[in-house]
Formats: sequence, structure tokens, C-alpha cells
Amino acid sequence: MSFRNPKYTRSVSQEGSFNSSKSSISSSINSNSSIFGQLPRGLKGENVEWKKAKECYICQKKFNHTTRRRHHCRFCGNSICEEHGIKRRTKDEQKRLRICDNCDRELIRNEIQSEIEGEISRLQTEVQNARELNEKLYKDHYEKTSRVGQLEMELSKAERSQKQKEQLLQDRLNDEQIKAEKTRKAIEDIRNELDNAGKSETDMNQKCAEAEAQLESLKGEAENLRNRKNDLETQIMTLTSKLKESYPLDHVRPIVCDRCLNKLNQVYRPMLSNGQVAIESTNDSKQSVNNSQVLNPDN
Ligand SMILES: [Zn+2]
Ligand SMILES: [Zn+2]
Ligand SMILES: [Zn+2]
Repeated sequence: MSFRNPKYTRSVSQEGSFNSSKSSISSSINSNSSIFGQLPRGLKGENVEWKKAKECYICQKKFNHTTRRRHHCRFCGNSICEEHGIKRRTKDEQKRLRICDNCDRELIRNEIQSEIEGEISRLQTEVQNARELNEKLYKDHYEKTSRVGQLEMELSKAERSQKQKEQLLQDRLNDEQIKAEKTRKAIEDIRNELDNAGKSETDMNQKCAEAEAQLESLKGEAENLRNRKNDLETQIMTLTSKLKESYPLDHVRPIVCDRCLNKLNQVYRPMLSNGQVAIESTNDSKQSVNNSQVLNPDN
């Protein structure tokens, strides 16, 4: 509000030089900030000369001493009316100085631009960081993907070998089962053979017993036959003696064949009285002697 003081305005306008009257300001006026890089001298904070125009350089309306007094923009030095120099801005960080609308607009634009540039630079940094992070993540992802691929390969390899082992075990198990089956059959065969052997032993025993019984009965039969033979021999002997008594054999001899004659000679001793037959049957002299003994008493 001190700038609106006419005294101050007058002193500035009277002395004509901002620099000479305000040395405290001039020392700080040269301080450059990065925002003012592209700006004209005054806007950069440097000292400017006040132009003594007769009209406002913005609205071109003529000044007078009552309703439209002449003022000066401390940034461009141009003459301005009150209406177009109503704003204040800091130049030396301590005091707020009159500024025209043009300079103010320029500063605002510059601030915005600088802000935008700052934002752009910040975004560029962010983009760079994001790019680096992305690269790192991509690398990580690649490494992990290849590791996963490796692990998958190992896993499938392990699975394959596991399957092979299972197959091997299955084959071995099948073999063992076949062997066990064979062994079971062999045992079964042996058991059957043993059973058969037991049965045949029983059969043999039975047959033995039967054979013994048969043998026994044959022995009995043989005994019977022997007895019967003895009986028959006795009968024959009796009959022979009767026959001999009834029919003389000398009459038969000439009409039978040699074989029958021989038989007759064996059974019926010839007449010992003439001694012919005894000489003929020399091969069986003992029997003939017996016969002769049997026959003799009848003579
Ligand atoms: Zn004006
Ligand atoms: Zn200005
Ligand atoms: Zn005959």
C-alpha cells in the first residue's frame, strides 16, 4: 500500500532514476532466478529506465494530473495508467512493486511454462525410472521364466524317469506273479502225483491181497487137483488091472500105431512071462520094473 503513496511515486518520478534513489533495492535487483531466464531485463530483476510517455502504453489514453495520473511499471519502465498498473509483484524478495498487466501476464506465462517444464522434467525422470524399472522387471521376468522353463524340464524329466521306474517295477511284479503261479502249479502237480501215488499204493496193496487170495485158492485147487489125480491114478490102476484081466494086451499091440504102443507099454507092462516088452522099454526100466511088480502078482 506504500506504493500508492503519492509521495513515493513523486520522488521516483522526480529523481528519474530508480537506481540512484533506492540503492537498497538496486543491490537485490540484479539477483537472477531461473524463472527469469528468458525474460527482458526488467523482468529478470535488473534496473530499468522509466519512460516519460504522455499516454498509457496499454490503453493509449492520455494522462492528466487529476483523473488519469502517470505511473511506471518497475519491470519494463513503461508509463501506465492506474487501471493497467494495479498489480504488485516482488522483485527483491522484500517489497512488492507496481507491475503492468503485460509484464504480469508475461511473468505468469513464464511461471506456468517453467512449472510445465519442471513437470515435464519430473515426468521424464519418472519415465526414465519407469523404463529402468521395466527393464529390470523384464530381465527379472526373463530370468524367472527361463528358471521356470528349466524347472519344468527337470520336472518332466523326473516324471519320465519315475514312470520308467514304475514300469520296471510293474514288469518285475508281473514276472514274480508268473513265477509264483508256476510254483503254485508245480506244487499242485506234486500234490496230485503224491495223491495218485498214495492211491496206486492202496491199489497195489489191494491187488497184492487179491493175488495172495488167488494164490491161496490156486494152491487149494492144486491140492484138489493133486488129490483128484491120485484118485484118478488109483482108478486107472484098478481099471487097468480089471482091463488086463478082461482083455489080453498082446492082441491089441499089433493093431495100434507106435505112439499108442509106446503109451501102452508105459502104462501096461507087457507080459513078463515071455520077457519081450521089458527089453523094448529100456529107457524107462524102473517104471517097467514097478509095472512088472504090479503086474506080477496077477500072473
Ligand atoms: Zn491504461
Ligand atoms: Zn511493465
Ligand atoms: Zn494110435
